[in-house]
Amino acid sequence: MVRMVCKSCSDEEGVAVFFEPVLNGVKVRYGKHTGYFYADLYRCPRCGREIITGFSDAEVFDGVPDYDYGE
Ligand SMILES: [Zn+2]
Repeated sequence: MVRMVCKSCSDEEGVAVFFEPVLNGVKVRYGKHTGYFYADLYRCPRCGREIITGFSDAEVFDGVPDYDYGE
């Protein structure tokens, strides 16, 4: 499992504040890709900042992406 620390919250709290998994398998389209990729959504429990990481290698073309950051 990937472990990620929110640096700004950890600096302020003086202890490591880890991002927590929110959803596995979100569909993300980005750049010039016509399809999307599966990835995982994490959130910092303190500041609420969200990050998407853990992208799959395989591009998927059926269905609709949850998040579309295409150009
Ligand atoms: Zn934070």
